[in-house]
Amino acid sequence: MKYHYICTDCKTEYELGPALMVCPDCARSQDRDQPLSGILEVVLEGGIGHDFDFHDLLPVEKEFFPLVPVGGTSLWGPDKLRLELGFPNLYFKDDTGNLTGSFKDRASILVSAFVRKYGLRDIALASTGNAASSMAGVGAAAGQRVTVFLPKTVPRAKIVQTLQYGARVYKVEGNYDLAYEFSLEYSRRKGGLNRNTAYNPLTIEGKKTVSLELYRQLSKPPDTVFVPTGDGCILSGVYKGFKDLLALGLIETIPRVYAVQAENSAAIARAFHTGRFERIPAETLADSISVDVPKSGLHALKQLKQYQGRVVTVSDQEIIKAQADLSACSGLFAEPAAAAAFAGFLKVRAELDREAQIVLLITGSGLKDIDNALKGVSVPETTISSVEEIMDDRFDHRP
Ligand SMILES: *Cc1c(COP(=O)(O)O)cnc(C)c1O
Repeated sequence: MKYHYICTDCKTEYELGPALMVCPDCARSQDRDQPLSGILEVVLEGGIGHDFDFHDLLPVEKEFFPLVPVGGTSLWGPDKLRLELGFPNLYFKDDTGNLTGSFKDRASILVSAFVRKYGLRDIALASTGNAASSMAGVGAAAGQRVTVFLPKTVPRAKIVQTLQYGARVYKVEGNYDLAYEFSLEYSRRKGGLNRNTAYNPLTIEGKKTVSLELYRQLSKPPDTVFVPTGDGCILSGVYKGFKDLLALGLIETIPRVYAVQAENSAAIARAFHTGRFERIPAETLADSISVDVPKSGLHALKQLKQYQGRVVTVSDQEIIKAQADLSACSGLFAEPAAAAAFAGFLKVRAELDREAQIVLLITGSGLKDIDNALKGVSVPETTISSVEEIMDDRFDHRP
């Protein structure tokens, strides 16, 4: 299989290579308050049989991938929740099972393989936390040097995890957007590869594997997928996977995708209705989907429109409640951003077909941010001095 890039805006085609990140023409007049212009998409050239290996659909050969457990995550049906909610075909695509506990590993492993293939060793990136710990972990396995730029507010577990993997970590005096700019300047001056989400075309390409897996695991594409959305890069990856399957003639329609955003970090949802992006400072405790200007916003929006996707926004309160309910009713402890997918599903469930195969992307583990998870539970403040005291306590558990 051969590959090239196509600019998602002007449709110019380019060769794959480490020097090219976005379409130079379209990126020339990039406005900082707008999503990226000139995002490049990988195009597969040629067809493939039904028994393809996922690696056949990725633009870097298998031999360059570090041998770590990334992707191939479980798709499972929470039976108690299915019964309670009346959705017999509800599934979790459980990406907490990846190497570093988040969906981001799908992008990191492809970037890592690409870096090895081109004989580079340094990788820099900005992150709200998961991309950093992910790249640091995958990079550690591959013997690569990873430098990360994080916003001040990054959850502690994510920074600890990144440091554990031996990455170099810098906190910037500002938010993710500033970290993003610093990381670009750093890569420009220091060389190596930049893994910024959406900017590096391999991030979207790596994330497409989730759709290929869903197709395999269900023996057909699901009807509906709920995607927690910040930058819109996972969303673009989900679409990319289904678009590849469509182009290869393996599926006939693109599933309905719901982009779930936090109410106060909802640039894509707003643009879905108004047609334009404006910078409004994001404010949500779901740090992984907190972003002022979504980098892959234009690209994600185009696809949502083209394939009749939907948007739904949820409040922080709904997210925290959904997080605790999800844990208590299914055994799955997801971080707030991932629980947002469940919150979004609950919010629109009346409009869904109950028999449909519905997949919630569970993008990150709850252990990555226990400070926010604490808001959904109450820790005992007193100790007990005998069992007698608690014999009459009720076991009250949601919902
Ligand atoms: C990064 C991330 C998201 C959102 O992905 P975008 O590409 O920014 O839309 C959702 N959930 C988790 C856990 C993440 O780490």
